[in-house]
Amino acid sequence: MSERIQAPRGTQDVLPEQTAARAALEARAREVLESAGYQRIETPIFEHTELFQRGVGESTDIVQKEMYTFDDAGGRSLTLRPEGTAAVCRAYVEHGMHKLAQPVKLWYLGPFFRYERAQAGRYRQFWQIGAEALGSEDPAVDAEAILLLTTLLTDVGARGITVKVSSLGRLESRAEYRAALQEHLRRHADKLSEEVRNRIDLNPLRAFDSDHPGTREVMAGAPLLRDFLDAEDAQHFSEVLALLDAAGVAYEVEPTLVRGLDYYVRTVFEIHSSELGAQSALGGGGRYDRLIAEIGGPPTPGMGWAAGIERILLAGGAPPHAAPPVDLYVAGPVGPTQFRLVADARRAGLGAQLDLAGRSMKGVFKQAARLDARYVAWMNEDGSWELKDRQGGEQITAPDADAVVRDVLRGPGL
Ligand code: AMP
Repeated sequence: MSERIQAPRGTQDVLPEQTAARAALEARAREVLESAGYQRIETPIFEHTELFQRGVGESTDIVQKEMYTFDDAGGRSLTLRPEGTAAVCRAYVEHGMHKLAQPVKLWYLGPFFRYERAQAGRYRQFWQIGAEALGSEDPAVDAEAILLLTTLLTDVGARGITVKVSSLGRLESRAEYRAALQEHLRRHADKLSEEVRNRIDLNPLRAFDSDHPGTREVMAGAPLLRDFLDAEDAQHFSEVLALLDAAGVAYEVEPTLVRGLDYYVRTVFEIHSSELGAQSALGGGGRYDRLIAEIGGPPTPGMGWAAGIERILLAGGAPPHAAPPVDLYVAGPVGPTQFRLVADARRAGLGAQLDLAGRSMKGVFKQAARLDARYVAWMNEDGSWELKDRQGGEQITAPDADAVVRDVLRGPGL
């Protein structure tokens, strides 16, 4: 026997029993987002590597070690998308969307790829749903983005949710803060993990994410960004919070919230679930006012988020869903008459299935029970049909296949 081939590490098959929950989640997301004026966009699965190098940032874990990058046969460096925002911004620029009424509000759903250590809730291919509002600096855009993700997660039943919000300020505030933080880290360098110590110059903020005990101790006494926000940034943030209060969104201000991407300014947020273990973030996002200019577009502010489908489902977020009903189950052997009967039944809008396994009548009824089919039909030797109502118990004889469809359509509750 040949060796069995398995799916690559960190990928998952989505099996038929799981697809209904995903479809219901997608439907709910569409309702929540489209009723707020967000329109669906699809971008390619792969992009020029440079888009992510510039858009996500050279100093991030994603660009440094998590991208699936390859050269195509034409010698171009391409990358499987690790996140959605950079591509949506690219599309905004490429299609001249700055000429549309602003902000342009877009949402997406699809697979993303990161070479991460695979574990529960962390995969190398995972699905994200995301929303981006491009072209407005208004704090209401930030508050609405947070409100929409909170609404979606609550609506689909994700349990144990906490909304964490912070402001990173703009670059000016951040430069001053960065210097203060670097000084603090250098002063306590001997207590830091090697990784954090090596990144003091490149990305000191990520030290807040470390779970190394010595580093955590140092970070407990670190200066906080909120004390460095200038008046405009502080005002912007307090307006975001006031709007969340007005909409009744419960949140925690988390001054050490650091997102893993370089492009954020001002508002950042994450939504966590107590149902999940170490990987407790269901989704997160923030404002990225420099990103579009960074990838060669006109300076345009933006705000968005992404949430992981698998993690939402792990947190219990599966809206109620039902399999479509089977109205008619037709016994074999399958000849032209049986085949035409199910085709006609479906054309009439019924759910109809053929027995394709050559079952005995007993087996046909067993399978019909598994499918919870309403009616079972079989042909008599003289070409007439028997139609059994599995709920009412009634059995009638129909002169031909056409009459079977008519009788099912007449049936109670159909
Ligand atoms: P991020 O932009 O990295 O914060 O990702 C947003 C959301 O996508 C996270 O909160 C997760 O729910 C989900 N996500 C990110 N990376 C992964 C992964 N490797 N596996 C599963 N879900 C992920």
